[in-house]
Amino acid sequence: MARRILILGGTTEARLLAGRLASRADLDVTVSLAGRTTAIIDHGVAMRVGGFGGIKGLSDWLEHEGVDLLVDATHPFADQMSRNAVAASIQTGVRLLALRRPAWTAELGDRWTEVDGVREAVVALGGGRRRVFLALGRQEIDAFARAPQHFYLVRSIDRVTDRFLDDAVYIEARGPFRADDERALMASHAIDTVVARNSGGDAGYAKIAVARELGAEVILIRRPVLPEARTVETVEEAMAFVDHPRTSAAARGV
Ligand code: NAP
Repeated sequence: MARRILILGGTTEARLLAGRLASRADLDVTVSLAGRTTAIIDHGVAMRVGGFGGIKGLSDWLEHEGVDLLVDATHPFADQMSRNAVAASIQTGVRLLALRRPAWTAELGDRWTEVDGVREAVVALGGGRRRVFLALGRQEIDAFARAPQHFYLVRSIDRVTDRFLDDAVYIEARGPFRADDERALMASHAIDTVVARNSGGDAGYAKIAVARELGAEVILIRRPVLPEARTVETVEEAMAFVDHPRTSAAARGV
């Protein structure tokens, strides 16, 4: 019988992993998405959309569907889902693998101010007027209402409907973003500060590299601390774990 795998998705890595596993007759793969964005991208495997209903809901789903392996390939800032995955794995005994890309680290020339959250990012902007590129999720924009002295360039995947920032330009775009495009965008709005999360990975890195080039400051939100889990950093390592869960050398952690 095919082994059942549930991939908690919402990331490029989840899509790539699902794509690599899709043709395998020995595996029965489902990808789960929260349903935050309106356009659902086909992953080539079975898909389900929407929350499970907390730890209990996820545990029930794993048991009811006879899942053999749970892969948490959510975004590094999707901490609630990752915590639920650890708890549900403990409750049900279903093996868990976390696929977490490494965080970015500062290079020579970077002007980073690292903060713990969005509120701290607002404070770090200070009192003087800045021209700020907000490369954050839609839900995180609200906090910047407290600092209306700045100009904001707000980029999100879906349209922000509640446009309460007065001095702002709103654009919609989905990564990956190329350095040339980021350079042109940031130059055309005379951006001097980027506010971003330390997501890691290539798709969002261009804004960080371009900020370095332009001498712009980056206010970088640190990752949430997640509970211990067996972890790999790449799709390749996740593939190796799927094939050899007991012996795979790539996975670190409990
Ligand atoms: P979150 O705060 O950790 O999750 C909140 C709740 O949303 C979870 O408790 C769960 O609801 C539901 N949920 C989250 N991911 C899910 C998934 N893959 N499948 C089914 N339900 C899911 O997550 P978030 O930060 O809102 O992110 C939501 C999704 O967007 C994730 O899949 C993530 O990979 C993706 N994403 C997030 C970010 C980010 O910056 N946070 C960036 C890019 C992509 P229940 O408790 O009801 O199960």
